[in-house]
Amino acid sequence: MEATTSHSGPAADGGGPPGDGAEARRYHRLQRRLGAADVVGGLAVMGVILATDWTSDFRNFAVRLAGDHHAAALFLYTTILLLLTGFLSLGLDYYGFRIEHRYRLSRQRLRSWAWDQFKGFALTFLFGQVLVQLVYLLIRLQPQWWWVTGWAVLMLFSVLMAQIAPVVLFPIFFRFRVLNNEELTARLTRMCERAGARIRGVYEWKLSEKTKKANAALMGLGRTRRIVISDTLLETCNEDEIEAVLAHELGHHVYRHMWKAIAVQGAVTFFGFWCLKLAIRWAALDWKRYDQIDFANLPLMVLVITAISVLLMPVMNAYSRFNERQADAYAWQTLGSVQAFCSAMEKLAAQNLAEREPARWVEILFHSHPAIGRRMRAALSWAHPGKST
Ligand SMILES: [Zn+2]
Repeated sequence: MEATTSHSGPAADGGGPPGDGAEARRYHRLQRRLGAADVVGGLAVMGVILATDWTSDFRNFAVRLAGDHHAAALFLYTTILLLLTGFLSLGLDYYGFRIEHRYRLSRQRLRSWAWDQFKGFALTFLFGQVLVQLVYLLIRLQPQWWWVTGWAVLMLFSVLMAQIAPVVLFPIFFRFRVLNNEELTARLTRMCERAGARIRGVYEWKLSEKTKKANAALMGLGRTRRIVISDTLLETCNEDEIEAVLAHELGHHVYRHMWKAIAVQGAVTFFGFWCLKLAIRWAALDWKRYDQIDFANLPLMVLVITAISVLLMPVMNAYSRFNERQADAYAWQTLGSVQAFCSAMEKLAAQNLAEREPARWVEILFHSHPAIGRRMRAALSWAHPGKST
């Protein structure tokens, strides 16, 4: 869910080390292949289910079991799809878990990983079922305008999710506690006061139980708005460097990046719903396969949504990198120096096995954050204008 977490800190995602080691390059190549396999696999499964018309068999099976009860039949049908895709992606997820261990980044035991997988699937199941029921209810109630209403409801839901994520969703997977460091809290409070910003707290994110990687983020909306900073980052960085990371996160807050991201997401989702409307109308009228209200067309919807998300990924990433650059510049201005920022970047790149200098096309297509090498050069040229770095 993009909009709930929105911006992770300087540490997130990462580019690769000065002159990137072979290990970082291999690690990121594997990560990209894994991501590609996940998308291609997802598209292939939906494509096969449609091409073979197994979707009609699933629908008939669900209807036989549920009888006249439409919602129950839809629930059963959706359960079949969710179990099928969940089971198929489990293999890739396990491979991802092994890669994290192979590169000595993960600290998670298999049992804990499996429990996280289970909880993740339970959440997907819950949200997936609710969303699917809503969409087909609207299709039946408003055959012309379901996609507009559906979009509006989904947007309200994402705002709600963004708000409750730090207190309800993230705690399902991670432990958080109020940052227990008076000096740092006082520094951040001073920064917030100068910026006229209302941050409701700074929390320590217990990431070390699962990974060696470090991260920081701005989370929540309104009363739940907070900065979280991982204990792994607190272990590695000194107070000046942590202050630089906090200043970057405060930059996201001051520039209202969370709300802007929700607005951009809203525009993209609107386009997505419009495409969905076209796709299911096409399936009913031209392909003559599934009526608009026939939920056997669900794999087509999933196919369309996946394709749109992949195609728009470079645009969304470019937008995210723009926000990240803004938050970086905010941090340099607030601190009046880039030294702590650069040394924090240096440490985090090493800690996260980041690619500091990925190929340009890789950065453009896949990175939500500018590569670390680029961020450091931008910082240095801000600090020493006119001097090429
Ligand atoms: Zn950021």
